[in-house]
Amino acid sequence: MADALKNFVAGQWKCSRSGQTFQDENPVRRGSSLGAFQASTPDDIDEAIGAAEAAFRAWRRTSVPERQQHIAEFLRLLKASREELARIVTLENGKTIRESRAEVDSALVEGGYHLTQVSAFYGHTGPGAFRDLTTWVQYEPVGVVGVISPWNFPMNVMCRKTLPALLTGNTVVFKPASFTPWSGVFMAGLFERAGLPAGVFNCVTGLGSSIGNHIVEHPGVRALSFTGSTEVGKKIQAKAAANLTRTQLELGGKNALIVMEDADLSAALEAAVTAGFANAGQWCTSTSRILLQRGIAGSFLEQLTARCGRMAVGDGVLETTDMGPVAGPQQYQDICAAIGRAQADGARMVAGGGAGLPPDGYFIRPTVFVGVRPEMALFRDEIFGPVLAVSEFDSLDEALALANDSIYGLSSAIYTTDIGAAKRYIDGIEAGLAHVNVHTGYKEPSMPFGGVKQSGAGLPENSESGLEFFVDRKAVYLRG
Ligand code: NAP
Ligand code: MG
Repeated sequence: MADALKNFVAGQWKCSRSGQTFQDENPVRRGSSLGAFQASTPDDIDEAIGAAEAAFRAWRRTSVPERQQHIAEFLRLLKASREELARIVTLENGKTIRESRAEVDSALVEGGYHLTQVSAFYGHTGPGAFRDLTTWVQYEPVGVVGVISPWNFPMNVMCRKTLPALLTGNTVVFKPASFTPWSGVFMAGLFERAGLPAGVFNCVTGLGSSIGNHIVEHPGVRALSFTGSTEVGKKIQAKAAANLTRTQLELGGKNALIVMEDADLSAALEAAVTAGFANAGQWCTSTSRILLQRGIAGSFLEQLTARCGRMAVGDGVLETTDMGPVAGPQQYQDICAAIGRAQADGARMVAGGGAGLPPDGYFIRPTVFVGVRPEMALFRDEIFGPVLAVSEFDSLDEALALANDSIYGLSSAIYTTDIGAAKRYIDGIEAGLAHVNVHTGYKEPSMPFGGVKQSGAGLPENSESGLEFFVDRKAVYLRG
């Protein structure tokens, strides 16, 4: 990549007015550069929002089948680009190539779901309940939508927001995360090739604290869909309130996996490894706390630590790699600091350490701590890395109290063969996702995806609410 990649605004590839660029690093090599991207300014955002507002006037009037045609073409191009895009995701994010392919596949499944579902979404009409009138709720697009996404699923998260927004007749200004601008700009290229009218989809790269904040504060933006940290989500919610801008916030988690003594332990072990270490633990629905019933704790931990020791940590481009590096220097420092703090607080590391890691890059071994108590930061704070905190319990009530002892409430899981225990867990767990004998990261597009407590706010993504978020409801009363 010789020249800096550009923003996509009003159907054109443009440099930032700042004249500045920033580098995209491959996390397997510190200080490396995959290419340069526009370090955009609020002026660039103003231009993109202006383009999206202008495009909205015609796009909102397009028929659903017409929008579906564009999105179907986009999905066809996405499928054809699967390998190329997966490679880009691996290069700039660090996750393994298999994980990147799975990310593209997930976006295709979700996109296909919304593409079909939008046909059934419209047309809620019927006789008035109170008078001799025909009444219906007419769904109308809200206008310009801001999409701000994180680096951990750089193409899937933006698709999960952008496709429903476009299918319901909105126009979009998208800001990718600064760790992963390439995937974002690549997606803009697919939208261009899918023939979307100029200004319907715009992509501007640059710093969240500057241009992301400007999207949030801009009165021309009518709805904001954000995925990222709880810390930034709270700031966004507060700022968006100034214009009563609608928000959909998918935020952090501290997801617990509960393993009961009657569980299929090999299945539970698989769940811990998959949801604990896929994407190097940088998954909002990662398992980060494991709660073990005392009777099986010893044997479970023995198997878990053995598995951790066997995992191949390295360059995600290699098909044989089990876990890639974490996404960048800040992540690396934060995770190492959290590990150091856990040790200082008295938790005991039974898997992890630096031995055998590639010399360069932001590599961290799968790490497991035991003896973790609720007052420890390791139990409470989202680490967003391959670090599991293990605690033990005697009864299911105790397990639920531990699992719910968190500001977060995104995902959760229990492994048990006792249907009564499963039912008590489903009723008692404070989380947006409740899995029984299924790992914490699993989801389907027809199911709502969002957290409770400080893990999210606004309508969840996916399912019907994934479309609902992007429409205003007009109550129509018709006589005649
Ligand atoms: P982040 O630091 O909150 O950043 C997310 C996005 O917001 C990035 O594009 C960032 O831009 C931008 N941003 C930063 N400050 C901003 C501001 N003041 N105003 C507007 N935008 C701003 O999160 P991250 O580190 O990328 O992602 C990790 C977090 O995302 C974790 O907490 C994880 O749990 C959460 N997550 C949640 C879900 C879910 O569905 N619940 C899914 C995936 C991830 P820059 O990159 O330029 O800073
Ligand atoms: Mg990068």
